[in-house]
Amino acid sequence: MKKERFRIRSERNLSRNFKVREVFASETANRKGIINVPNDRREMAMVIRNARSLARDVLQPIRDRFGVVKITSWYRCPLLNDAIGGTAKSQHLLGEAADFVMPEADLFEVFQWLSKIKTRMDLDIDQVIHETRETSRLIHISHKIKRLKKFNRHESLLSTARGNYAWYA
Ligand SMILES: [Zn+2]
Repeated sequence: MKKERFRIRSERNLSRNFKVREVFASETANRKGIINVPNDRREMAMVIRNARSLARDVLQPIRDRFGVVKITSWYRCPLLNDAIGGTAKSQHLLGEAADFVMPEADLFEVFQWLSKIKTRMDLDIDQVIHETRETSRLIHISHKIKRLKKFNRHESLLSTARGNYAWYA
């Protein structure tokens, strides 16, 4: 399918420390030659709206408290999502979820902090997951826009092995 042509304003800020280009950057996409952008302007607008809400309401407060948040995966087009082995309902497809590592802080400490405050409305988290992969660890976090009246679940999960999750209290 031919993609509609439109401009991506990569250097535009979503919040003080997060830029549009971070939403679409993907090492896996680069390696596999996948162009990781939405198909049309309407989908683009939806993804940016979701990503901006995630940046402002969730990622920026983490950045303010713990230092640099290095995004490893945010939006995924369907092709990239398939390549990564993501589920069909992955919130990455909507720009509602991001994976990150913390170069300046202890990742598990950040996860514990997020798990503790997840029920407070000032950081309205849908899901936070501490993922342990074979050679790396990351935090997956998601958030849904309130004005769409979607319910944020405030779930906290820990991966014990690949594809295996446990609730984290
Ligand atoms: Zn993720």
